[in-house]
Amino acid sequence: MILQVIVDISTNDVDRAFDYEGEDMPIGSRVAVDFGNQRLIGFVIGKKEQSEYPNLKIAKYLDTPISSEQLELLYFMREAYHLRYIDALRLFVPAKLREERDPEFTRAFMRIDDERSIDELCAAVGKNAKKQLEALKYLASEGGQFLSVMTAKFGVSAIKGLRDKNVVIMSAVHERSAPMNTLSKSKKEVTLTPAQQNAVNKITNGNGVFLLHGVTGSGKTEIYERVIENMLAIGRTAIMLVPEISLTPQMLGLFRARFGDGVAILHSGLNASERYDEWKRLKDGEAKIAIGARSAIFAPLENLGTIIIDEEHDTSYQSESNPRYDTKSVAKFRAQLAGATLVLGSATPDMESYMSANKGDYSLISLPERISRHKLPEMEIVDMTQEFRSGNRSIFSKALTDAIGETLSRGEQAMLFLNRRGFASFIRCKECGYIAKCEDCDVSLTYHKQDNELKCHYCGRRYHALTKCPNCGSVEIKQGRIGTEKVVEELKAQFPDVRVLRMDNDTTTRRDSYFKILSAFGAHEADVLVGTQMIAKGHDFSNVTLVGILEADAALYFSDYRSSERTFQLITQVAGRAGRAEKQGRVILQTYAPKHYVFRFGRTYDYVGFWKKEINTRLVTKFPPYTKIVRVLLTSLDEQDVVDCTRNVYKSIQALEKEYGKFVYLGAAKSPVTRMNGLIRYQVLMRIEPDIFGAVMQKIYKTADSNRPKKGSIFVEVNPQSLI
Ligand code: ADP
Ligand code: ZN
Ligand code: ZN
Repeated sequence: MILQVIVDISTNDVDRAFDYEGEDMPIGSRVAVDFGNQRLIGFVIGKKEQSEYPNLKIAKYLDTPISSEQLELLYFMREAYHLRYIDALRLFVPAKLREERDPEFTRAFMRIDDERSIDELCAAVGKNAKKQLEALKYLASEGGQFLSVMTAKFGVSAIKGLRDKNVVIMSAVHERSAPMNTLSKSKKEVTLTPAQQNAVNKITNGNGVFLLHGVTGSGKTEIYERVIENMLAIGRTAIMLVPEISLTPQMLGLFRARFGDGVAILHSGLNASERYDEWKRLKDGEAKIAIGARSAIFAPLENLGTIIIDEEHDTSYQSESNPRYDTKSVAKFRAQLAGATLVLGSATPDMESYMSANKGDYSLISLPERISRHKLPEMEIVDMTQEFRSGNRSIFSKALTDAIGETLSRGEQAMLFLNRRGFASFIRCKECGYIAKCEDCDVSLTYHKQDNELKCHYCGRRYHALTKCPNCGSVEIKQGRIGTEKVVEELKAQFPDVRVLRMDNDTTTRRDSYFKILSAFGAHEADVLVGTQMIAKGHDFSNVTLVGILEADAALYFSDYRSSERTFQLITQVAGRAGRAEKQGRVILQTYAPKHYVFRFGRTYDYVGFWKKEINTRLVTKFPPYTKIVRVLLTSLDEQDVVDCTRNVYKSIQALEKEYGKFVYLGAAKSPVTRMNGLIRYQVLMRIEPDIFGAVMQKIYKTADSNRPKKGSIFVEVNPQSLI
């Protein structure tokens, strides 16, 4: 039999199957092959009777990790995202399956015979065998050890002695470096509210895509759990995706408590062996629920009943580096393939998701009320230009200072939130709040220090940096950014006894430090938590009654058509942290643009009002979802190289524009960040209408393939999160 094998190497030139000779095996099988002078893993994607090549090498069968459903996903992703075979295949298997060694590899493990007491065992060894006694005691204190470790430590003869005297028991164990953490936590049984019950019934008995739009604290998680339970009851399986940052031990504990070993949890804290074990339990049907960040969408589950995507608006669902893909589209395809329902949950759905619900393509389920008897916290908007003019130079408004004081005196906790995204910065007038915008695109300009210029990321137009405000003439116009350290400093100056924790990228380089800070705050080891958007996600702190948002408008000024949307999402999320349990919460939001519609709607948590206003802006300005933004980014060590390729790409796309029309914008220029890691960056940027998107993209991918800079790379991005 001739097998068509994708070999596990990643180079730009190889994206095709190689012929090998081998026994008959299912498509999706894993084989070991000789490739050049390497021994590599490969995946069988096709079979045939004959090959045009003579003297084929032999492929050795290992196992069949990839199902036919996954193979269909593979072809969908190749088409939609122009992925190479191997990059897509690697998404389906854990890293352990990329080596020939048996992943089930076990090692000899030794422990003492615990039928007998340690004294009896020592007597059996005899007091003259000093080394053996030492090894025995060590073994008893460790609870067991690998044979190889024991012989290295105590020598071959001592260990042989112990075995000959039958005082130890040998077994074979998986090579797992650490036992899996048990994250169990007792689970209180709740009775669903009528609104929750209604949602559960609709999803369980329905089909297609559901958009679960529920305010923070409306009990969405409980709904997910019940839906999953109902699926398991009829013999089906489930995938639940959450943003990586929400994979907290508490949240995993809740799922463990409810579903026990039936759930496999895939998060970034697992080592390769643990990841393989979780994958294997899913593959073998021992675990029927997969919970994880975006890559859990590829979980090897059969008979899938539902896919749940929590916080569906979260940007982490879009993979922004190779392999690039959009998790929601993959999920939609997979759900359809499996006849499963897809549930998208959020307090602030993505513009496009809500549009689909509005059109009737998705079934909309709304949960406008919180579970707890307390309403969503009252939100107060403070005008910082007013504070500035009245002489308050502090980063805290009077209202916020007073509120912090009151909260501390009641023994309650506060969270202070600073908005930080990307490393681009904006320029703002402190007197009147003026922000420079692109005349063509109506998005804020970004200040580039290196060139001392303002740039529009959507059309490349450049503007002189400002020295005084064109609106009011003030010279108090500069980069307005404060850091979390500065906030902590001022807090301590005003409240000397306050206990503060700080959370941002600097303090949480490790995953466990992130959890440590959160649990310390949860245990009331600090009064105030200061942080960036990392503290915005669904943590439940019952003693938090005040949330301060310091630069609510910071995200409004990034050169991004989604700034308003992102800002609305962030303030809703952050505000949702206050008053989650018994105590009423309060939110104070400081801004230089108090009249901006995002705050008008945000203050009353009016998502639908916001959506209507925003979607109309998108329609008028022709931004997504009414168009797709496509960027072809070219980089090279050599300027002429990248300029030539950019010109060629631009010319071919111009021809497409002639042929298809429906391009709202097309331009080629240096990227806003012109040089990165020594590579010179150019881009061809366009906005195209959705109805020609599918056809045009295939041609753009082809163009990109045939115009790769010799000393660099080229890639195509669709609706990228950032355009630097
Ligand atoms: P969301 O995910 O919508 O923000 P959660 O699912 O976290 O909301 O629910 C908020 C809180 O309400 C949680 O503490 C949860 O345990 C509790 N809760 C959810 N449903 C019920 C219910 N039916 N009865 C009592 N408490 C509930
Ligand atoms: Zn001004
Ligand atoms: Zn512009």
